[in-house]
Amino acid sequence: MVESDPSIFTLIIQGNIPCHKVYEDEHVFAFLDINPCSIGHTLVVPKEQSATLDGLSEEASAAVGRVLPRISRAVLAASGATDFNVLQNNGEAAFQSVFHVHFHIIPKHDDGSGLTWPFATTQLDPGEGAILAERIRSHLK
Ligand code: 5GP
Repeated sequence: MVESDPSIFTLIIQGNIPCHKVYEDEHVFAFLDINPCSIGHTLVVPKEQSATLDGLSEEASAAVGRVLPRISRAVLAASGATDFNVLQNNGEAAFQSVFHVHFHIIPKHDDGSGLTWPFATTQLDPGEGAILAERIRSHLK
């Protein structure tokens, strides 16, 4: 599914849907997630509406990157957690449900609430790694 225009987060940013806002500047808006994984679960959203991160402008990305640590510190101080995850989903298969870029700040509390890490890992083959890294570098030129 692709988010229609305007997205639900644009409607929140515009004040047309209520939220518990924690931060706003020229480019960025942050508010509490309506279905928190843990106490303090916060969404940090660029005002620029792009469905996924790879479509976001450098200006909007930089603006989000600039404030993520500060908002994280505030979330930790307010929620009492010291550990946390920053999660960013892109595409339905990658668990994205709102198609407007957003970063989750999810505190990990002593009671276990927060993000769990369910992914099985594999060992990177050195030969395949060399080929893949070169292929990625070629797309960055
Ligand atoms: P995604 O799965 O796309 O990475 O995460 C979307 C998040 O947005 C979910 O955690 C969901 O709870 C949250 N969300 C969806 N709609 C609303 C809403 O109307 N208000 C708020 N505050 N959060 C929302």
